[in-house]
Amino acid sequence: MFKKFPRAHLAAAIVIGAVIGTAMIFSPSAEVEAKRMSVAIDTHYGTALPTSHTPSSQSADALASPKASLSPAEATSAAPGVTATTETDIPAEPALTWTEFEVKRGDTLSGLFKRAGYNDGLMLSVINGEGVASDIQKLYAGETIAFAENADHDLEALVLTRSRTESLQIERTETGFTGKQVLREPEVRTVYAQAEITSSLFGAGQAAGLSDKLTMELAGIFGWDIDFVLEVREGDRFSLVYEELYLDGEKIDHGKILSASFTNRGRELAAVLYTDENGVSNYYTPEGRSMRKAFLRTPVDFARISSNFNLQRRHPVLNTIRAHKGTDYAAATGTPIKATGDGRVIHVGRKGGYGNTVVLQHGNNITTLYAHMSKYGRGIKSGTRVKQGQIIGYVGATGLATGPHLHYEFRVNGTHRNPVTVKLPDAAPVPKAQLAHFKAATQGALAQLAAHQEVNRITLAQGE
Ligand SMILES: [Zn+2]
Repeated sequence: MFKKFPRAHLAAAIVIGAVIGTAMIFSPSAEVEAKRMSVAIDTHYGTALPTSHTPSSQSADALASPKASLSPAEATSAAPGVTATTETDIPAEPALTWTEFEVKRGDTLSGLFKRAGYNDGLMLSVINGEGVASDIQKLYAGETIAFAENADHDLEALVLTRSRTESLQIERTETGFTGKQVLREPEVRTVYAQAEITSSLFGAGQAAGLSDKLTMELAGIFGWDIDFVLEVREGDRFSLVYEELYLDGEKIDHGKILSASFTNRGRELAAVLYTDENGVSNYYTPEGRSMRKAFLRTPVDFARISSNFNLQRRHPVLNTIRAHKGTDYAAATGTPIKATGDGRVIHVGRKGGYGNTVVLQHGNNITTLYAHMSKYGRGIKSGTRVKQGQIIGYVGATGLATGPHLHYEFRVNGTHRNPVTVKLPDAAPVPKAQLAHFKAATQGALAQLAAHQEVNRITLAQGE
């Protein structure tokens, strides 16, 4: 079916999660003591898995293999070597000529076909082809489209390359055209990094070879226990085992953090990623307690507290002593307001001086209230289930308010508690019935972390 696309490497990449391979230790930078190693480098089996030598099963292989490389550039360059060694008994394909265009803003499919020398009639038969051929109409600037024609200038195939890992491949069949989406699976390498903070968390992350995005993710894991703005000190340390994603030997992105530790003012916290039997991934302590709390401390980002919980406050509008049973966060009108915990909407609408208000019911007999909203979040209705962090509304000044702010209340068993200081319950731990599975699933990542920490302790000691 897709034999027009020569395959490059069908060697299945089998990545095993063990600590093998060489470790490269980068010299510590002047600024921080940071190390980074690459472990489990290239755990491919060196040779291809048994491959078949008949044209029919070749196409089956190509379909089944996400690594089948089909970009026109590689097709032309890889064809002689690869096909000669593995497919000697396949008759030579007629040579195709590829022409490639970058999709620019404002380009149309019709315009691209015209540039390649084809008319709208041909374009329509491609669009009306089988499989997902019609997806060719979803074009985005930055993608590339390549047309392949035979010696008679008939369009034989086209490839829309959406990204390094995703393309749409369409080829002529006996009855028309047929298209399929091809996803390339990046190779995953496990990497260890560690750093000691001397000036800033991000500075330490950069010195250890982490992107700022990865450092943010690391902070996100421990952010429930450590205030990264106020509590991080010089001398704090972190280490982590994480994935890097490679395509054709080139790093394209980082993957997940698998395990990590953070030592804050002498207190060491450790976390490990666990995907439960329902496929839900979360970070837990090595004992199986959740790294998360059941509630976010604050429902708005980048807001300052403009009025604290105070049972003796003089009301700014009414000018009488009236308890302030919540916390006010000053923020611009339209700032998103997040549900602080998983729950169910039990009130949405105007509520006297509170203005536009949402009230959520959570587990443990806890309710939260969000007042003075300018508008509600999409789909927020009475009875709606919401997830922690979901946007339920936007900051405003409806009701009795002197300016745009969020008034937030936290009630336990009907009693108002100070949202800033109330002890927040942990999110659900690994259920007892899953603990054995959890231990088995996470011990590898924790052992990698521990092994590298140990190696580095010895290396550092020897260096002293
Ligand atoms: Zn208030």
